[in-house]
Amino acid sequence: MEYNADNVFAKILRGEIPSQTIYEDDHALAFYDINPKAKIHALVISKGMFTDYNDFINHSSDDEIAAFSRAILKTAELIGVAKDGYRIVFNTGKNSGQEVPHLHAHILGGEPLSTDL
Ligand code: 5GP
Repeated sequence: MEYNADNVFAKILRGEIPSQTIYEDDHALAFYDINPKAKIHALVISKGMFTDYNDFINHSSDDEIAAFSRAILKTAELIGVAKDGYRIVFNTGKNSGQEVPHLHAHILGGEPLSTDL
């Protein structure tokens, strides 16, 4: 899938749509999901223009992958879910129901999560 910079997360990165920043570094931006699906629900998005996890892993450097992975944990710590537990979700492609075609990880926590995936 070709990257399309009209998506909502590209607009957030450009500052065209507001978001509540939790964490930011050279590779990633984290903010709260507008429609939380758990008591605490954050999103970590790449600053690079990747459509999804497949695109990211296939086309980014090992340094970018490491940095993005660390940004997810950093965000989990900042929102206070790292100790008690959380779920990381990368919806990828049509069967996953991915809505926004820009790489993002969901971090869900703050309460016991359903084990019914
Ligand atoms: P996906 O289904 O693509 O994995 O998840 C997209 C997520 O982005 C959804 O959980 C949705 O609630 C969230 N979202 C969509 N638009 C916005 C927005 O403008 N701001 C924020 N903070 N989250 C958004």
